[in-house]
Amino acid sequence: MVGGGDTACEEAAYLATLCRKVYQIVRRDELRASKAMQHRVLSNPKIEVLWNSVTDEIIGNDMDGVTGADIKNVKTGKIQRLDIAGFFVAIGHQPNTAFLDGQIELDEAGYIKVQNPSSATNIPGVFAAGDVCDPNYRQACVAAAKGCVAAIDVERFLNK
Ligand SMILES: Cc1cc2nc3c(=O)[nH]c(=O)nc-3n(C[C@H](O)[C@H](O)[C@H](O)COP(=O)(O)OP(=O)(O)OC[C@H]3O[C@@H](n4cnc5c(N)ncnc54)[C@H](O)[C@@H]3O)c2cc1C
Repeated sequence: MVGGGDTACEEAAYLATLCRKVYQIVRRDELRASKAMQHRVLSNPKIEVLWNSVTDEIIGNDMDGVTGADIKNVKTGKIQRLDIAGFFVAIGHQPNTAFLDGQIELDEAGYIKVQNPSSATNIPGVFAAGDVCDPNYRQACVAAAKGCVAAIDVERFLNK
């Protein structure tokens, strides 16, 4: 698990319920996560935090998937090879909206602006739903519900 925030800690703690061992790669010498989440990670004997560390290379192949990773200590420059069977990243969220190329209004973080509670964007007839316009929740059930909202909005738009 790569990251030092709440999401990374939560996912590391979850993975530790499924795996024998979890490495958490943290680029600084402290976790950004809340105290409660820090405690969950640091008190879990299955999770080993690699401080001051970044990923140098992920190793794997089409047949086996991920088989390892080279982790670099940014203070010493030393590279350590980990034998791992999975690699998860939780270092922030960037909405995939670049393809819109300025045609639809976005907020400063790049999320599509919708006219809540409707899914209308600033362009009549263009509606948005899901994570791409949700900086707060980003959950599958919320995205699905917003998809339903957008479908109703589209139908009403066409009927008009
Ligand atoms: C590690 C992880 C764990 C999660 N766990 C949970 C959980 O337990 N419960 C929960 O409710 N949610 C969870 N989520 C969140 C959930 O996955 C998202 O909220 C949900 O997938 C959002 O759905 P979406 O349709 O808005 O976006 P996405 O599922 O991201 O779908 C967007 C689709 O658009 C495609 N696309 C992108 N750009 C273009 C383009 N230019 N042209 C055409 N297609 C394009 C993408 O390939 C993708 O298929 C988790 C997310 C992650 C990353």
